[in-house]
Amino acid sequence: MNILLLGSGGREHALAWKLASSTLTERLICAPGNAGIRKEAECVALDITDHAAVIAFCRALSIDFVVVGPEAPLVTGIVDDLEAAGIKTFGPTKAAAQLEGSKGFTKDLCRANNIPTAAYARFATAGPAKAHVRKQTLPVVIKADGLAAGKGVIITDNLSDAESAIDLMFGGALGEAGAEVVVEECLVGEEVSFFALCDGETAMPLASAQDHKRVGDGDTGPNTGGMGAYSPATVMTPQMQARVMDEIVVPTLKAMKAMGTPYKGVLFAGLMITNEGPKLIEYNVRFGDPEAQVMMLRLMSDLLPALIAARDGQLKTFDLRWYPNAALTVVMAAKGYPGDYEKGSAIEGLDAAAAVEGVEIFHAGTKADSGQILANGGRVLCVSARAKTVTEAQARAYRAVDCIDWPEGFCRRDIGWQAVRREKGL
Ligand code: AMP
Repeated sequence: MNILLLGSGGREHALAWKLASSTLTERLICAPGNAGIRKEAECVALDITDHAAVIAFCRALSIDFVVVGPEAPLVTGIVDDLEAAGIKTFGPTKAAAQLEGSKGFTKDLCRANNIPTAAYARFATAGPAKAHVRKQTLPVVIKADGLAAGKGVIITDNLSDAESAIDLMFGGALGEAGAEVVVEECLVGEEVSFFALCDGETAMPLASAQDHKRVGDGDTGPNTGGMGAYSPATVMTPQMQARVMDEIVVPTLKAMKAMGTPYKGVLFAGLMITNEGPKLIEYNVRFGDPEAQVMMLRLMSDLLPALIAARDGQLKTFDLRWYPNAALTVVMAAKGYPGDYEKGSAIEGLDAAAAVEGVEIFHAGTKADSGQILANGGRVLCVSARAKTVTEAQARAYRAVDCIDWPEGFCRRDIGWQAVRREKGL
C-alpha cells in the first residue's frame, strides 16, 4: 500500500518508524516530515492545511491510506474531505473531532451521559463568567473552549488572576478559541493519559502513559507541549483500566454514535485518578506527543492493519500485542522553550546516542542542512528507550542524552520519577 502520513513532530516520527516496518507498506510518504522522518519515509513539502492540495497529491501518487497525526487538520475536517474524495483516512470526522475541538461540547456530553468529570459551567461573555468564578472554591480552572495549542488552560488560586484570564480569553488573546470559556472545578489526584483505538462502535484499549507537562525538574515552571513520558503508567492497573473503559470511553463512543457522529480514530483520554475514581480532564482526538513515542516502542504488532480496521469499522475481531517492557522518552528542547528560542543550532552526537542499547531517537523539530542536523523548533528531539523497567529505560535514555552534543538544548533530568520511585519501593 501507498501510505501518506500527515505531520512533522516526534509523534509523527514514531508513527512513521512503526508504519515503515509494516508488511503492508510499500511506499511511505510523510508531509511535511522532518530530518528524522526522512530515514523512514519520503518527505514532501505539502501544506496539510490545504485539503484540496492533499487530495490532489493523494490522487497523483495513488495513496491508498492516509494517517493524520496532529489535531488541527482533524478539527477542520480533513478526514471528511479526503473520504468524500474516495481516499481512505484514519482519524475522526470534523463532527467527531469536537471532542478535542470544543471543551464545552465534551463537558456537555459527559454531563448528559454520566461520565465522571470536573464540575463546570460554560460562558459566552466575561461578566457572568467572573460572577461564577467569585462563587467557586479556589483553585479554579479557566479554559478556552477551542484549540489553543496547550495555552488555553489556566489553573489559579488567585481570584484576580482568574478574572484576568477570563478577560484575556474573551479579549481575543487566543483568537477564536476563546470565544467561549469553560470554568471548572480543580481535580486533585494523579494524572494519566489513556489511549483507545475506536472504529465508531468498538473501543480497543491501547496503552497508558504519563507525560511531564512542566518545563522544569520536579514539575516546576510553565506548561509545555510535554517534556517527556513513560509507558505503562503504574497507576493504570488492570482494574483501573476496566473502570476507565466502562465509565468513560465506552459511554463516550455510545453517545457519539447515538448523536450520528460515530467516533473513529485514537481517543486520547486525559484522566485524573482521584480518590473517587477516574475522572475525565479532557479528550484529544489523536495520538499524544510525546506519548506516541513510548507507545510505538512498546507495540509488538503491526500498527497499520489496526488503523485500517479502525477506519473500516472492523475492530471487534482485532487484537494487538504489546511488549511487556516499559518505554520512556526524554524531550530535548531549544533553550528558552516554551518561551522564545533560537532555531538553526547544530546537533552532534546523534549516532553515538542511537547506538546505546534499547534506544531510539525520534526527531520533533529538526531539519537537515548540508549533512548536518539543525534544531528547527521548540521541542527538537525525543530520546527514547525501552527496557524491562522504567528505571532501566530512564538510565538508557539519559545515557543517550549525554552522548548528544547540543549546547543550545536542554532537557529535564527526572522524566519517569513517579514510576522510578514506585519501582524502588519509595
Ligand atoms: P491542556 O492544555 O488542555 O492539555 O490542559 C493542561 C493541563 O491542565 C492538564 O494536563 C491538567 O494537568 C490540567 N487541568 C486541566 N483541567 C483540570 C482540572 N479540572 N483539574 C485539575 N487539573 C486540570
